[in-house]
Amino acid sequence: MQRYSFIAFAGLMLVLPLLPVPDFWITQSNYIGLYAIVALGLVLLTGVSGLTSFGQAAFVGIGAYAAAYMATKMDVSPWIALFVGLALAVVAALIVGAVTLRMSGHYLPLATIAWGLALYYTMGNMEWLGKYDGLLGVPTLKLFGWDLGSGRRLHGLIWIIALLAALATTNLLDSRTGRAIRSLKSGSTMAEAMGISTFRYKLTVFVIAAALAAVSGWLFAHFQRTVNPTPFSLAKGIEYLFMAVLGGVGHVWGAFLGSAVVRIVEDQLQVLLPKLIGTSGNFEVIVFGIVLVVVLKYAPDGLWTFVTRWLPAPRRVRDWAGAERLPRRDKPAAGELMLEVDAVRKEFGGLVAVNDVSFRISSGDIVGLIGPNGAGKSTTFNLITGVLGLTRGQVRFRGQRIDGMASRHIARLGMSRTFQHVKMIPEMTVLENVALGGYLRTGSGVARAMLRLDRAEERRLFAEAEAQLARIGMADKMHELAGNLALGPQRLMEIARALCTDPALLLLDEPAAGLRHKEKQALAAVLRQLKGEGMSILLVEHDMDFVMGLTDRIVVMEFGTRLIEGTPAEVQASPVVRAAYLGTEH
Ligand code: ADP
Ligand code: MG
Repeated sequence: MQRYSFIAFAGLMLVLPLLPVPDFWITQSNYIGLYAIVALGLVLLTGVSGLTSFGQAAFVGIGAYAAAYMATKMDVSPWIALFVGLALAVVAALIVGAVTLRMSGHYLPLATIAWGLALYYTMGNMEWLGKYDGLLGVPTLKLFGWDLGSGRRLHGLIWIIALLAALATTNLLDSRTGRAIRSLKSGSTMAEAMGISTFRYKLTVFVIAAALAAVSGWLFAHFQRTVNPTPFSLAKGIEYLFMAVLGGVGHVWGAFLGSAVVRIVEDQLQVLLPKLIGTSGNFEVIVFGIVLVVVLKYAPDGLWTFVTRWLPAPRRVRDWAGAERLPRRDKPAAGELMLEVDAVRKEFGGLVAVNDVSFRISSGDIVGLIGPNGAGKSTTFNLITGVLGLTRGQVRFRGQRIDGMASRHIARLGMSRTFQHVKMIPEMTVLENVALGGYLRTGSGVARAMLRLDRAEERRLFAEAEAQLARIGMADKMHELAGNLALGPQRLMEIARALCTDPALLLLDEPAAGLRHKEKQALAAVLRQLKGEGMSILLVEHDMDFVMGLTDRIVVMEFGTRLIEGTPAEVQASPVVRAAYLGTEH
């Protein structure tokens, strides 16, 4: 949503209680705000990060019970209760997250179901929490001497919190941390190669979503003036997820739209369905089920996408012109030994994909790694960069053992790479994708992003990203969505992203595949220029003209084994290579 749309919407919601609208509207609006705060967490967690949680209602329950218990039994300030509720939710999320977020596939949703059920029955069976009757008589909220007792007065607080949460989430998504979070859905390999700890960010979004849910629970307790386990059951957890999915699980404002639609339709159905069917019962559930199937089929990105068509498209203002570039690492000395690959081996079951391969790269060298398909070139890349563990052997980078290190730690030492099969975030712009490469060169965290205190650093990062794009001739495409590019430009974008990490050693897996002749020549020129600046490059490539014209030395592999290593002339003259490799080409 653009700034003006936001201001208009926020203004409307804040003056709503002052207008002569029926109390019923205000009540509905209160519920929508309360739900939206929870659904906002699910947009981050499920929509943006791809982590499905059915258990958010339990975190709402923690916030609500903390508020109700402390207000009725301990007579402490509601602000302390809010703090305690938040702290409990955060600790619970850290524990549950630490255990479950390493799970893959369907295990995480199942774990959230288990945890949602467990907390529901705990709340229902605790004597001191009033069992299934809950805690009654929660006092009204008092703020600076103001009694926020009536729905109209509480409306202001609920919506101020909901709107601030939406703003903070929007800011977060448009930041260094946000890009890391947005990369979670596309698998971890690329993000980790850029130095991002994917587990850490999964845990971060899990905690943020839990905290938002707990705040909603705190408001809920003071709004309803009573708490019992029912609103925090698994069924409600599923409903929250439904709101997020219906509204548009990848969009901040989808959380609001989804909450509004669910609340209003639910209410209407409770009146309408008994009239139509003649009996009462939980038929809304069936209707919602049908609606969900229809929405997922015809609007998989949710209802919000229909609204965005009517809103002006947001445009990133290019405000980083003239910003100072990011600091660079010290260049390696000329001829410094950069990479030592020493009898490296990788077995996949019975298949020896890399068979005791050794070679070295010194600073300023461009080394080619060639061989027929399946020779083990990409696997060798993965062993060097820490994507795969070695079966045997050693890898040293600038004298330091790196075999067994996580790829994000290796990235920090100054090694960067591209992938044979392009790995990117298709729904981010080219510029944002390249900016991911600058992750380790910047430092703003969640709080700075939410408060927009990271702008100066962001400008420097984007200046850097644009410069790297310009270097490979792609500055004109920087605002396009990466997923809309052809394969050739996508590969170039990956190179720009790798350069944005300020590497000392660059590993390029088939960089020229899919490029046109002119583009290949331009790429070769850039790589030569990088070499001139002291960069070392390891290159897998099938285009022989490209490899022979560019490299200082070539390592030839076949069936996982190193055939020979030599200068391009030596390799071209070698009968072994001709038989094994070039023979198949010519
Ligand atoms: P290249 O990049 O030289 O074409 P790769 O390194 O991709 O070759 O593959 C080398 C061999 O290892 C191939 O036979 C491939 O099928 C196998 N291989 C690669 N990755 C895996 C994996 N994750 N599990 C099992 N086998 C693999
Ligand atoms: Mg390969």
